[in-house]
Amino acid sequence: MLKEQTPLIHEGISSGYAESSLVVAGFPFDGTVSGRPGTRMGPQHVQADLDALETWSVYQDRDLTDYKICDLGSMALSYGSTARVVDAIREETQTLLNDGKRVLGIGGEHLITLGLIQAYAARFRNLNIIHFDAHADLRDDYEGERLSHATVMRRCFDELQSGKIWQFGIRSGTRDEFEFAERYTRMRCFDLENIEQAVCEIKDAPVYLSIDLDVLDPSIFPGTGTPEPGGVTFKELLEALLKLRGLKIVGADIVELAPLLDSSGVSTAAACKTLRETALLMV
Ligand code: MN
Ligand code: MN
Repeated sequence: MLKEQTPLIHEGISSGYAESSLVVAGFPFDGTVSGRPGTRMGPQHVQADLDALETWSVYQDRDLTDYKICDLGSMALSYGSTARVVDAIREETQTLLNDGKRVLGIGGEHLITLGLIQAYAARFRNLNIIHFDAHADLRDDYEGERLSHATVMRRCFDELQSGKIWQFGIRSGTRDEFEFAERYTRMRCFDLENIEQAVCEIKDAPVYLSIDLDVLDPSIFPGTGTPEPGGVTFKELLEALLKLRGLKIVGADIVELAPLLDSSGVSTAAACKTLRETALLMV
């Protein structure tokens, strides 16, 4: 079980499980990726590079060392059955939620979000999802498969009760996906503008933040399986995150880093910095 694993120790993320309100956990799965594989290596590379990350956020004027945060390492996942992987992630997340923790997941491909959301939606009736991505991820199936990183937000939509999915940065998908978004989600194409509107409407409802890092332009985030030119800058991503201060962010994930596709290491650095800023929004 994830909670029984020995926590990894980084400067600023070094607390034990029992005392921590926020737990970081890796979900190294890339079984359904449609482009180049390799996101299963994401958690391992992020968790290694966290040791080199400054604990102080100049942006938020806060320091990781002031909070109790635990890194449980990566969950052991089998790759044979996608459905079993999603079930296993849901069960582990339920255990963490039962212990009163907030979870910050590191992917892995975007489908890992479904297991997390299944647990969160069962716990929080009016859960809202804020979703940053280049891709709509709203297909009903991908090549006949209903569980895929290309269908993940459609499956998450099936889980939500009264809450909404707020999508930002979307610039790729099928006509069907955009028609679905028109009716059932709140979608902002191309950029992260107007996120204040979401903050305004969500108010104090619980929020799950899902960051598919390919929302970033591939010029600053090439380490991903399905790069999509025309994305946002890292500064724009940070500015959008800062506007979420004040929301009740009960869970989050950072997905789709394929570290071996970027030998410069910049993509992993971007993921680590995103993780720090997101963690500071959650504590
Ligand atoms: Mn995605
Ligand atoms: Mn994507």
